[in-house]
Amino acid sequence: MKKLADIGLIGLAVMGENLVLNMESKGYTVAVYNRTVEKVDKFVHGRGAGKNFIGAQSIEEFVASLEKPRKVMMLVKAGKPVDALIEQIIPHLEAGDIIIDGGNSHFPDTIRRTEYVESKGLLYVGTGVSGGEEGALKGPSMMPGGSPDAWAHVKEIFQAVAAKVEDGSPCCDWVGEGGAGHFVKMVHNGIEYGDMQIITEAYQLMKDLLGMSNDEMHEVFKAWNDQELDSYLIEITRDILGYKDENGEETVDFILDTAGQKGTGKWTGISALDLGIPLTLIGESVFARCLSAQKNLRVQASKAISGPAPKFDGEKAQLIDDLKMALYGAKIISYAQGYNLMMEAAKEYGWNLNYGGIALMWRGGCIIRSAFLADIKAAFDNNPDLPNLLLDPFFKEKIESAQEGWRRVCATALSNGIPVPALTSALCYFDGFRTERLPANLLQAQRDYFGAHTYERTDKARGEFFHTNWTGRG
Ligand code: NAP
Repeated sequence: MKKLADIGLIGLAVMGENLVLNMESKGYTVAVYNRTVEKVDKFVHGRGAGKNFIGAQSIEEFVASLEKPRKVMMLVKAGKPVDALIEQIIPHLEAGDIIIDGGNSHFPDTIRRTEYVESKGLLYVGTGVSGGEEGALKGPSMMPGGSPDAWAHVKEIFQAVAAKVEDGSPCCDWVGEGGAGHFVKMVHNGIEYGDMQIITEAYQLMKDLLGMSNDEMHEVFKAWNDQELDSYLIEITRDILGYKDENGEETVDFILDTAGQKGTGKWTGISALDLGIPLTLIGESVFARCLSAQKNLRVQASKAISGPAPKFDGEKAQLIDDLKMALYGAKIISYAQGYNLMMEAAKEYGWNLNYGGIALMWRGGCIIRSAFLADIKAAFDNNPDLPNLLLDPFFKEKIESAQEGWRRVCATALSNGIPVPALTSALCYFDGFRTERLPANLLQAQRDYFGAHTYERTDKARGEFFHTNWTGRG
């Protein structure tokens, strides 16, 4: 009898092709199908030639080639195509079969789809797959959530294809129910926005204030990558700054300064606003991209509005060292805020998230991979109920020692008119977080003054509300 496939994948575009090659290389037989069916033969006789793939010409044929319970993974364009595909697949499946969405779906869609697919007697998995094309082929970070009963069936394949850290642990574990996997992938992308933004702020200070060349900055990033900032994004920044084209030109200098975005940073910011979580660093990072995109307006303003001319007469090596501390401090804040958001979402949506496991999933195979994530994993291993990363003894000590240099960087940037929105907002969050009494007493008084919104008093029990007739008028 013909061997059935261990898993099937629909969507032979960049991600799908690479992920099935990865699965096959780990010993699995994979059925493949694509809406434009010519791509199936092209793949099976091309990159997939001589390998254990079963190419299907129709959904019926595809489903019939799968071992039970059937595991049908979709890696197609996020949004309506996923819903359309689910409708096409469901009639061919039977109770206990599993539909898996590995695309960049928005988590509320995954919550909805999990409920819908479960209502048909099937199981659903929405998994974040990070690391792009190369990650899919060589080992992505995978963040699966959905129907808990599905995990036992997909665990072995997922963990086999996922990236591994030094001790061999896979960067893939069960995240939680419903849309938890896609939520965590969304926060991952938001943190990616933040990490990228703080690196660009350091770059601008080195370039515009210290007048450093790309080669000099390349050396700085190279050194940083061997220290506590060791990460994929620091590493590629080092390479970008060292890159010269065939004419010896430094390509980075010719790239238009308008940042693109696909929306996952925005989703993270919206989710933080919905849940009332101060996700300031990621928020600023999204807005910084928006400001960069207003190129024409900025060019006009640069000619019309003046500010201080950058001038530095301090110790250059000291500022570079301070910059490292600023990046380190801000990075701690970014993760503290991101985890704060995940904790609140877990409460709101009833997910039981494994916070240390999430840090481990991000340690390899994804854009935000870094040595730093091992320390986050350790923090949650020490205290699974840690309410905020800044209260972990290791991070508390690290951020306390980073703050001196970080403050000098922010003060220097502000007095020289160089924008560092993420570094400064992170520092303000840090100061706000460690302040016992914020000025919100005055704010509550204002709200009560104009809108009779009432306030609680420091000398009375919480939950008792008061109103003052501030004007004395009746
Ligand atoms: P993509 O360009 O997002 O999507 C192309 C695939 O979707 C093709 O196989 C296409 O089939 C299929 N498709 C589109 N509409 C469809 C429909 N209505 N019904 C059935 N199939 C449909 O592909 P990708 O870049 O490989 O990404 C796949 C998923 O992974 C996306 O959700 C993406 O956001 C996510 N992702 C991508 C990356 C990356 O680096 N590219 C990284 C992480 C996550 P046809 O060939 O017939 O058009």
